[in-house]
Order: sequence, then C-alpha cells, then structure tokens
Amino acid sequence: MNYHVLTLFPDMVRDGLCTSIIGRAVEKGILSVEAINIRDYTREKHGHVDDAPYGGGAGMVMQAAPVCEAYEALCARLGKRPRVLYMTPQGKVFNQSIARELAGEEELVFLCGHYEGIDERALEMIVTDYLSAGDYVLTGGELPAMVMIDCISRLIPGVLNNDVSAEIESFHDNLLEYPQYTRPEVYEGRRVPEVLLSGHHKNIEIWRRQQSIRRTLERRPDLLENARLTKDERAYLQKLCEE
Ligand code: SAM
Repeated sequence: MNYHVLTLFPDMVRDGLCTSIIGRAVEKGILSVEAINIRDYTREKHGHVDDAPYGGGAGMVMQAAPVCEAYEALCARLGKRPRVLYMTPQGKVFNQSIARELAGEEELVFLCGHYEGIDERALEMIVTDYLSAGDYVLTGGELPAMVMIDCISRLIPGVLNNDVSAEIESFHDNLLEYPQYTRPEVYEGRRVPEVLLSGHHKNIEIWRRQQSIRRTLERRPDLLENARLTKDERAYLQKLCEE
C-alpha cells in the first residue's frame, strides 16, 4: 500500500507515522507514506495557499490551484489517478468496515484541509470520498489521516506480527473484544479469571465470546443489531438482556 498525504504540514504526518508498528512496516517496504507539501505547488510569490472567503465570514480558505496541481503532479508521476479521500467533518464517519474496503487499494491519497477548509471547486474536481473522524471539528485533516492510515495498515498482510490479531479484535463480527490479561496471576488481590488458566481451549473460546457479547451489550448495544451470533450465543444474549 502506498499512501500519499496532501497537507500543509508534512512534518506532522511524517513524524506521526514513523514509529512503532507503522514505522517498521514502512522500513520493511510493506507500506510507503509520502507527505506532499501543498505549499510547494503555489504560484504566488509569497507562497500563499489560502485567501479570504468570497461572501465574507471568519477565517481563510485553502485555494483550489495548489491542491489540484499537487494532485495532478502526483498522478503524472504515478501514471494513474488514485482515490482521493478528503478529511472532513462533513464526510461519512470512518469505521472498521470502511478500513477493510480501503485496505484493498494499492494507492490512496489523503487530502487534509486546514483553516476553514478547501475551495469547493478543488473538491469537486479531485475528491472521490468524503471521510470524517467523528462528529466534532478539528483544526486540520492531518490527525484524521493518520488515524485512518494506522487503522487501514493493520489490515494489510505482514504489518502486524500476528495477522490473526486483526481478525479477532473489536468490531470483528460487530462485537467488542473480550477483556485481556497477562502476568501476574494476581494483582492487588484481583485474580485472572480461572478459565484462562485452565488450558481448555474450547472453554476459553466460549468464555471469550460470551465476554465479548456482555461487553458489547454494556458499552455499544447499537452494534449488536448486526452482530454475527450462533444460536447458543443468541440465547446467551437473551439471558443477559433479561437479567
Ligand atoms: N469549516 C469546516 C466545516 O464546518 O465543515 C471545518 C473546517 S476544519 C476547522 C479544518 C479542516 O480540518 C477540514 O478542512 C478538515 O480537513 C479537517 N477536519 C476537521 N474536523 C474533522 C473531522 N471530524 N474529520 C476529518 N477531518 C476534519
């Protein structure tokens, strides 16, 4: 997967994605992350990339030309026109299933706005997807882009040491993950649940699924509507609801 981030703050993106698991995947050549400075594509002699909004109002708007020219230069270099994901609070709220779908692409462009956003004409010309990090307003699209890149990358084979871990964690089957424990067996008087020490794999699996169902019911009951449950698990959920 090759990520191309169009931004006014390339250092923020490079610094944010060069450590830990994503950084190692980049070193191994499984991923590449390129931060493209939109400011490099301005033709204004003072390097301006923004101007006051037509019609008045607070703040500044990023101009269309540097954004479009940064994208066109990238397309010319790649010989193709990759999808452009505009980071915006007005977009579809990002989630695990969108991440799964995007993980199948070879190239992705993340377009980060700043100030009051980007001139609508640039968006009409190059954007294919409008994606939001959530129903709140941030100062720029860089943090959402980094969040989405992190999430998509974990789904790309070879990025995690153990690819199975991405398959069975929260949101798989529309359930939250079960609680996790590690050494010591007792901490401040709190014991690890006995079943996890039993070595009985079938019982551990059943316990974990039940914990996932219980936790999802307590914390994110909205997910349960589309959860994939067996007949026994549905009965377990029913019992929980009646408690
Ligand atoms: N005036 C815009 C509006 O009301 O929709 C908000 C502009 S915001 C201050 C500046 C930039 O931050 C946006 O262009 C967008 O790229 C990014 N941004 C802010 N909140 C975001 C969110 N929840 N998800 C994704 N990007 C966001």
